[in-house]
Amino acid sequence: MKRCDVVVIGLGIMGSAALWNLAEAGITVLGIEGGGPTHTGGSSHGGTRIFRRAYWEGEKYIGLLNRAHELWTALQDKTGRRLIIPTGGVFIGPRAAGVVAGSQRTAIADDIPHEMWDAARIRERLPAFQVTDDMQAIYEPAAYAIAAEEARLQMVNEAVRGAGTAWYGDPVESLGSTPHDVTVRTRSGQVVQAAAAVVTVGPWMGRRLVPELRPHLVPNRVPIYWFSPRPGRMEDFDHKRFPVFLYECQDGSLLYGIAAGTSAEQGVKIGFHNRQHVPADPDTAIPRVTDHQRQEIASYVAQIFPDLEPSPIDARLCYYTMSTDESFLIGASAQSPRVVYASACSGHGFKFATAIGEALAFLAQQKPPPVELSAFGAARFDAASRVT
Ligand SMILES: Cc1cc2nc3c(=O)[nH]c(=O)nc-3n(C[C@H](O)[C@H](O)[C@H](O)COP(=O)(O)OP(=O)(O)OC[C@H]3O[C@@H](n4cnc5c(N)ncnc54)[C@H](O)[C@@H]3O)c2cc1C
Repeated sequence: MKRCDVVVIGLGIMGSAALWNLAEAGITVLGIEGGGPTHTGGSSHGGTRIFRRAYWEGEKYIGLLNRAHELWTALQDKTGRRLIIPTGGVFIGPRAAGVVAGSQRTAIADDIPHEMWDAARIRERLPAFQVTDDMQAIYEPAAYAIAAEEARLQMVNEAVRGAGTAWYGDPVESLGSTPHDVTVRTRSGQVVQAAAAVVTVGPWMGRRLVPELRPHLVPNRVPIYWFSPRPGRMEDFDHKRFPVFLYECQDGSLLYGIAAGTSAEQGVKIGFHNRQHVPADPDTAIPRVTDHQRQEIASYVAQIFPDLEPSPIDARLCYYTMSTDESFLIGASAQSPRVVYASACSGHGFKFATAIGEALAFLAQQKPPPVELSAFGAARFDAASRVT
């Protein structure tokens, strides 16, 4: 039997961040991942993710966002790797609709540097985007792309240089707990005993290891696509000119994207945030992106970006694990207080991972986390069900 202070189950970005933070604190920590180091079965794979602070989703995220930014910077400084790719961010939509109004509200409340652009200014500054006259944009100069896969691997690398160990390819099959410790059993028969467990298994969260979360989480498969600029238009889509973006259409569809040249992936990465979700069992084989899905995104891209070839050059599937209010679930299990967890997806969790990993490291040591987390506790759903 192996013994350690803390065992982390699942090494997507949240588990890798917890492993890194625990090892940095000198805690002996073992991370166990069911897949390989760069598998594509969960939510964290791929070259890049968006970081932005003018957050249309609400001001409750600001504390975590600010801490996450400090820690992304610290990780970049420590590793000497290029983990932050400055691009700026532009969030476009009908005036006063959700994305523009919400982003502006948070930017004002937290004093985040930003500019408001009308349609004429958007056309002047960003000729790659087509907008209608009633559209507006909020531009956040300090938004950026995170080198996602590199960052995740660097977290694990930093951890194993210190007090951390990582096992890959051996899924955890059971997690038991007493008031004093936890016991984990893996598929290959390894048994691990620790003072606490951190469970960060993404779309698998409610299925086996933290079943109390099952009513609040739905894993959805969502496609992500890459598009080529038309001949001669490459410069307009390079990250030096083309910010990370959100684009809210008149019909409410919300697209996001990241410039070409931010990772080894070819082309401009674009996806729907709120369309093409298919509820799915994460234990079944991942199917292909359908022709219908490709045609649908092509029709949006043709309207918004006439200088991109509308047919995607690549398309892959990923999981959005949606909570019922599209926010995060972070805390200690009500049934097993030595088990702490984070389900921080709903399609927007990656940018928070450094701060969530730190919070999980504190919770696993039964210390209060540096950033207040009560807005992200599962108790909010119990309170909501009592009201209705
Ligand atoms: C296409 C796409 C684009 C996105 N874009 C952005 C963005 O721009 N900005 C942003 O902030 N967020 C974005 N997100 C959301 C973000 O990627 C997720 O919030 C984040 O990756 C969730 O990470 P996780 O570690 O919780 O889950 P996962 O990455 O799914 O990791 C869970 C891990 O647990 C492992 N596991 C499962 N069961 C077991 C077991 N029994 N034993 C051991 N290991 C197990 C899995 O193999 C997996 O590696 C995007 C998501 C997608 C899908």
